[in-house]
Amino acid sequence: MAMFGKVLIANRGEIALRVHRACREMGIRTVAVHSTADADAMHVRLADEAICIGPASATDSYLNIPAIISAAEIAQADAIHPGYGFLSENARFAEIVEQHKIVWIGPDPEHIRKMGDKIEAKRTAAMLGLPLVPGSDGPITSTEEAIKVADAIGYPVLVKAASGGGGRGMKVIHDAASLPGLVQQAKSEAKAAFGDDTVYIEKYLSEPRHIEFQVFGDGKGGAVHLGERDCSLQRRHQKVLEEAPSPALNADQRAEMGEIVRQAVAKLKYRGAGTMEFLYEDGKFYFIEMNTRLQVEHPVTEAVTGLDLVREQIRIAAGLPLSVTQDQIRFEGHAIECRINAEDPLTFAPSPGRVTDFHAPGGLHVRVDSALYDGYRIPPYYDSLIAKLIVYGANRNDALMRLRRALEEFVIHGPKTTIPLQQAIIEAPDFIDGNYSIKWLERWLASRA
Ligand code: ADP
Repeated sequence: MAMFGKVLIANRGEIALRVHRACREMGIRTVAVHSTADADAMHVRLADEAICIGPASATDSYLNIPAIISAAEIAQADAIHPGYGFLSENARFAEIVEQHKIVWIGPDPEHIRKMGDKIEAKRTAAMLGLPLVPGSDGPITSTEEAIKVADAIGYPVLVKAASGGGGRGMKVIHDAASLPGLVQQAKSEAKAAFGDDTVYIEKYLSEPRHIEFQVFGDGKGGAVHLGERDCSLQRRHQKVLEEAPSPALNADQRAEMGEIVRQAVAKLKYRGAGTMEFLYEDGKFYFIEMNTRLQVEHPVTEAVTGLDLVREQIRIAAGLPLSVTQDQIRFEGHAIECRINAEDPLTFAPSPGRVTDFHAPGGLHVRVDSALYDGYRIPPYYDSLIAKLIVYGANRNDALMRLRRALEEFVIHGPKTTIPLQQAIIEAPDFIDGNYSIKWLERWLASRA
């Protein structure tokens, strides 16, 4: 198949820009779609064509399937890249795109659907030979059953929403007495957030790390893994800083687990980019979910492998084979990404508004993915992520020194940002030692309060 002539980018912010950049380097023209609030956005300015698809509210614009399909038809786009968030994991959207004879730059809609239901995802993972967190065998249908399961696996347990995402609809349960109330709460939260009150129960691991493997499949049984990312630095189950490789794994452990994951992806005949997320405790991996899209933190993998993950996604969607075999993939050096949000660094209250001064750090091995510019007005309607700072070094210490320098150089005036928070985190001795679990950041934040 010939490479695409034109790709529509169904997203906004830094990731729209990221996709645009990959397209331009491949000689592909881009179509930006945007809400009225984003008329001045950087991705709109840089794209070859721009089409307004609705008002500020995401429901009416970035989630507006008929408007996006119409834009693709009018612009005669060959393919759609969904970025992350918004419609990227909407199987129905992927199907509609394909029905309109537009190429979906993503996995088979069936795989999106399967992995979008976490219960179904765990079943599939088990079938593919991946280790799971012990828990209920499917949805919880009654309080009696929930108590029985919790007794069998032992407290504390975690009740999770089958349709969950972004850490919502999760409750930790410490004893049988509080179980009925908390399961009910989780169900109503899940119903409100996802329109689905299906929940399941899992053993609550006490001090795990969050370690995820980046994978690519060709859709025909060929697959590679691109190593892991450690995303244990989290606040309210949201990632704050990510690094590759994980300070907790050595090359043998990486190769061993990577191969298990690679085989699972091959067996699934998965197509495109995906991430297998695991919790890691006492030397053991436990599958929690698979994300069927590009991740926010993909640049750290790009830094240590030298591969362009968006280019790889586009190539696969165009029917080309994987550009590398597993043997050709080398992991070199160390990369760290800081997520910079337009938020108060102490209270985390959103801080949108006009950027009066913007200066991105530069120099050797420093990358900034951001759609900000001087005078840009950050709209209050969307995610607060405004920039990602990614640094690379020959080893972790080198990367840390560079990160310290780059954060110092970063100027974003106007809105409050989480730059001071990131600066404080990287001075914490536990972080410097790589000695942190998914619980660490919240404990550390509480100790500073
Ligand atoms: P979501 O899709 O909402 O992000 P995940 O299943 O990916 O949900 O879990 C998000 C985070 O919640 C994990 O990175 C981890 O910090 C925590 N978590 C999930 N499952 C468990 C568990 N069984 N024990 C302890 N923490 C968990």
